[in-house]
This record gives sequence, C-alpha cells and structure tokens, in this order.
Amino acid sequence: MKKRALFTTTVPVEVIFAAGYTPVDLNNVFVSGAECQRLVEKAECCGFPGSSCAWIKGLYSVVSEMDFDRDNDVFIAVTQGDCSNAKVLEEIVSLDTGIKTFIFNYPVDRSTEAMISEIGRFAAFLGTSVEKSEKKGAELSGLRKKLRRLDELSYLNPGLVTGFENHVWLVSSSDFNGDPELFEKDLERFIRDLEGKMPYFARQGRKKIGYLGVPPIIPVHQFFEERNATIVFNEIQREFSMSDDALSLAERYTQYTYPYSSVFRFTKAIREIKARKLDGIVHYVQSFCHRQLEDIILRKMLASDCPELPVLTIEADKPLSKIDHRLATRIEAFLETI
Ligand code: SF4
Repeated sequence: MKKRALFTTTVPVEVIFAAGYTPVDLNNVFVSGAECQRLVEKAECCGFPGSSCAWIKGLYSVVSEMDFDRDNDVFIAVTQGDCSNAKVLEEIVSLDTGIKTFIFNYPVDRSTEAMISEIGRFAAFLGTSVEKSEKKGAELSGLRKKLRRLDELSYLNPGLVTGFENHVWLVSSSDFNGDPELFEKDLERFIRDLEGKMPYFARQGRKKIGYLGVPPIIPVHQFFEERNATIVFNEIQREFSMSDDALSLAERYTQYTYPYSSVFRFTKAIREIKARKLDGIVHYVQSFCHRQLEDIILRKMLASDCPELPVLTIEADKPLSKIDHRLATRIEAFLETI
C-alpha cells in the first residue's frame, strides 16, 4: 500500500520522497478535476462561509471525499508563509480522518539555520533524515533543470509553448504528479517535440504577458492565448518548480519566494519581467485572500522599476470554465493598450 503525504501548498518534496511517501498536492487535485464548482459548493454546505476563499473550500472537499489509511497517510499544512486557513483545515482533517498531521512553517527571517532546523523537524516527522532528503534533492536536480529549459523555451518562443502548457508543467512540479521518473520522461518528450518544431516556428508577433499571483481558478491563460498574447512568465508556478540552482535544500527553500515577504518576492519577479522583456503584467488575486493586499506593494514597485509597463489586476472568487463578460471586456481593453 502506498503511503501518501497530502499537503496544502509546496513543502520540501525531497523529504517526502526520501521517507518513501507519495506526495499529493491537494491544490492540483482540486483544480485539475472536472468538479471544482461542486467541491466549492459542498464546502459551503458543510459550513465554510461564502466569504472564505475558494481554494480552501476546494481543498477541504477534496480531502472529505478521499479514503484514508490511518497507518500510512499523513496531512501537511503550511501556515507561516502561506495561510492561516490551512491551520484550521489541518484541525478539521485531524478530527475527521484521524490521520497524523504536521504543520510546516517557513522561517520568517529566511535564515538558513532556521530552515535547516525546520527541514530536520519535517524529516523526523516522516521518519527520514536530512541527509537522505539531500540525496533525493540531488537526484531531482536534473528534472528541475529540464523545467527551467521548458520555461526558457516559453519566453524565447511565445506561442510555441502556450501559457497554459507552461503553467501546467510548472504548477505540477510541486508533487511531480506523484511520480518524478514518469514526469521527467514526459517532460523530456515534450521538450524534444518543441525543439523539433522550433526551426519552423514563426513568432506571429504575440504579446508577451507576465502572470503574477496565485494560480487562477478561471481560464486566464487560454483567454490571453486566443487573443494573440501568451503568458510567458508564470511567477508563482515558476517558483513551485524550484528550477534555480541550489547547493542544499535549505538554500533551495529560502530562495523560493512565495512564503516570504512581498518585497523579496516582487524583487525577483521584476528581475524576470525585465529579462523576459514583457509587454504587460496581469496580477491575479483570489477573492477573500490576504494576498490581495500585495497588489499595493506590487504596483508601487512596478511604478518605480518599470513605470511604462501596463498592469492589470484581476480578481476571481469561484471556479469558472469561462471568463465572465465583464472581466473579458477588461482584459480585451488592457490588451488594446499594449
Ligand atoms: S488563496 Fe489565499 S486565502 Fe486562499 S488558501 Fe491560498 S493563501 Fe489562503
């Protein structure tokens, strides 16, 4: 029987593999399924307020419909660096399922020492060691480099890789769909196909868009793609892929921007925005998420560093299979200004 480690956001997956568990990013299960809307409604029927974010509702419902093996499955939530909702979710899961739970906290000060200690605590919980986890980290580094290659191909050839393809590959790397070897083989094949198509690819003058913010629950990528614009920078998804070189897990997980300060995060994002010579930025915010406020900081930093760059902030609450009319008009007007 497979031992599963379910989690609410990216955690050091190397530790999970080293301990012999299969990682399951609940966000991916929720958003890639065909029943997102039903899952959100189900959580509301179970008492989640309408004014809580759709992601946490979706995660709750996904867990509520899973079968658990108390001896083999564990649940990991991240609070410091992600979301206080996850703390309550951890308590609900513990009560409802009886499986072992763990709270992983990203150190506020991003210090290497604190990260080493947190990874050690995590490894001890799962019954492995930091050394074994580092070994797994070294084994995964080739796969992470391939994700970086995919990302390079995306911004060097807008449209050859669609914004959605880039998004899916990078976002799925939080758990490698539970099977890094298969994931790597599929990715290799995908990259080989792209490289074969490259000599015949005409750029078509597509607009290059950067997408900042948590992954969307509405089809933003496809909407841009259909309007001669490609999202060639998926900021948080790229962070999930951990594709920057790192000498150790502590270094890798303190370079990772998502759990730390907005200024740290956006400083790195702006570096990428400039390097990729983007034409515009879309900042996605999730309704009822504290991260909505980060829009204020992002806009201040962009106004100072890239004053000419058009920025559009969009917000969504519930999952939708189609962009609604009002938002469609706003995005189209934004594209006309580029
Ligand atoms: S979108 Fe925001 S509020 Fe919702 S789970 Fe993620 S961090 Fe928490």
